[in-house]
Amino acid sequence: MDLGIGGKTAIVCASSKGLGKACARSLAREGVDVVINSRGADLLEATAREIRKETGASVTPVACDITTAEGQAKVLAACPRPDILVNNAGGPPPGDFRDWDRGDWIEAVTANMITPIEMIKATVDGMIAAKFGRIVNITSMSTKIPIPVLGLSNGARTGLAGFVAGLARQTAKHNVTVNCLLPGPFETDRLRSSLEIAAQNSDLSYEEVRAARAAENPSGRFGDPAELGDACAFLCGAQMGFVTGQHFLMDGGFYPGTF
Ligand code: NAP
Repeated sequence: MDLGIGGKTAIVCASSKGLGKACARSLAREGVDVVINSRGADLLEATAREIRKETGASVTPVACDITTAEGQAKVLAACPRPDILVNNAGGPPPGDFRDWDRGDWIEAVTANMITPIEMIKATVDGMIAAKFGRIVNITSMSTKIPIPVLGLSNGARTGLAGFVAGLARQTAKHNVTVNCLLPGPFETDRLRSSLEIAAQNSDLSYEEVRAARAAENPSGRFGDPAELGDACAFLCGAQMGFVTGQHFLMDGGFYPGTF
């Protein structure tokens, strides 16, 4: 299926590895020119080279912290009028809400709610003028299935969901869609480090913890980041202009509800 987005431009935030990288790669395979971003420069450069070599697309790395005004300005300078925006950032740490102070909340809300909103604000009017825009926010299954130890994530990301619910209805008539992808457990460095911590806090090996955690999922496995990347590219397809304001769980069936 030709997604009809060859020649378009995309900003994919937080994408030197993991889910963001997978989105950048899938878009680049469709012929989209991508700006990728992370704080660390070395891995970002290597990722840019890898995706460029594999896809032939233009891949521009911009090393900066996307949660800061300076970082956002740097990324937007590299791609002022993107057709596609994929919002992503690091996730907040787990913990007990009694231990979090105002600063912890502000950090989480800045990364996982305000930053995506600022990036949307900076790009959505250009998309409206172009009569094409696709905005995909990578959030978490925690917006649908609150995870008690991830209170910062549950709260901040659900705030973003509330904002985009209203925005998506305002931009739909301009062929600008706003949707969210809600990952369950995908095998990225983030997931691997949480498995490592779980193994250290138990008398099980990493492989035993990994197998037990994978077995908890109806699919019996973790998601492959490439699956989420391809879903992101599909959501950005020309054919998807009638789909907006939606939250797509990708969790191997972990959410137990009928809808
Ligand atoms: P990951 O493998 O650790 O990759 C995170 C990427 O984001 C890296 O490229 C990192 O590079 C970049 N990054 C982090 N903070 C940044 C910032 N402030 N500015 C720019 N780039 C930044 O993580 P992941 O598993 O792909 O997770 C991506 C998002 O999905 C996170 O918010 C996570 O909470 C959420 N999520 C993941 C899963 C999962 O199972 N993997 C499930 C639910 C939700 P630098 O460190 O160099 O900046």
